[in-house]
Amino acid sequence: MVLGTYKEAVSARATDKQIQKVSQDGGIVTALLSYALDEGIIEGAVVAGPSEELWKPEPLVAMTSDEILSAAGTKYTFSPNVWALKKAVRQYGLEKVGTVAIPCQLQGIRKTQSYPFGTRFLADKLSLIVGIFCMENFPFASLETFISEKMKSSPEVTEKMDIGKGKFWINALGEDIGLPLKETHGYEQAGCNICPDYTAELADVSTGSVGSPDGWSTVLKRTEAGISIFDQAVEVGIIETKSMDDVKPGLPLLEKLAQGKKDNAKKESDSRRELGLPVPF
Ligand SMILES: Cc1cc2nc3c(=O)[nH]c(=O)nc-3n(C[C@H](O)[C@H](O)[C@H](O)COP(=O)(O)OP(=O)(O)OC[C@H]3O[C@@H](n4cnc5c(N)ncnc54)[C@H](O)[C@@H]3O)c2cc1C
Ligand code: SF4
Repeated sequence: MVLGTYKEAVSARATDKQIQKVSQDGGIVTALLSYALDEGIIEGAVVAGPSEELWKPEPLVAMTSDEILSAAGTKYTFSPNVWALKKAVRQYGLEKVGTVAIPCQLQGIRKTQSYPFGTRFLADKLSLIVGIFCMENFPFASLETFISEKMKSSPEVTEKMDIGKGKFWINALGEDIGLPLKETHGYEQAGCNICPDYTAELADVSTGSVGSPDGWSTVLKRTEAGISIFDQAVEVGIIETKSMDDVKPGLPLLEKLAQGKKDNAKKESDSRRELGLPVPF
């Protein structure tokens, strides 16, 4: 299946106005992790928190809903959240940990659960992993370079970053500036070219913007734990949902992009193999 294994897909958003204001899309990541924390399903969550440098995230072991909220919004560069999972267990002593992860981070996390060499202390403590869709990512220096060189702006004055409708967008000093994605090619992390997973196939619940209208998220409900927490959050009114059949562009666009990513990754790994280079997939 091009979107991985899932039980149901829905379009959804957080009902909390504060979350809606600061979240990237429907605020599903923030709402779900906060709900799990309030209910004692997790004792803390590793998120991509703020750092001294704007738009350069730093992994944060969030112990309160306010700390989870402080990490809302997409930063288009790496946040080594996996590294902080060890800190969550060893330094903070958490027995039940939640986290948010892009697809490659999920592959690492699931590997530590299946083959816990040196990570036995962590394997059974991961209670909720919210995966986010990811087409590509940028080293921070590349992000700074194309924002300053091509968009004539800077991360310091940027209020929101987003990718959509074929462009990389920033909202800076109240103005929307869009750069066609073909202009950002070459700036992305080279490893992303062989990455076949768009929808965070190994998550408990995956979410992203593609498929749903602005301010809403597409959600793929995957594991028993993920389905149960998501459904509870809907039942108590923290999250509202619509059927994917009632929203545009819906699942066909998500499936098309996910298939395109797999095809490109295969082409790239085939050509690397021909050159005798090692490939992970
Ligand atoms: C590099 C990147 C590329 C993406 N590409 C796509 C795409 O092609 N299509 C698509 O539909 N969606 C994509 N997304 C996901 C999308 O931008 C939103 O993150 C997702 O829809 C969740 O929105 P939300 O409102 O539920 O989350 P929010 O409630 O706003 O919370 C966002 C959460 O994401 C975490 N986060 C932010 N930046 C990072 C990061 N760099 N690494 C790990 N965690 C992070 C934060 O800790 C926070 O908890 C991408 C995300 C990233 C990080
Ligand atoms: S494209 Fe793949 S390898 Fe690159 S950041 Fe996204 S999930 Fe990771």
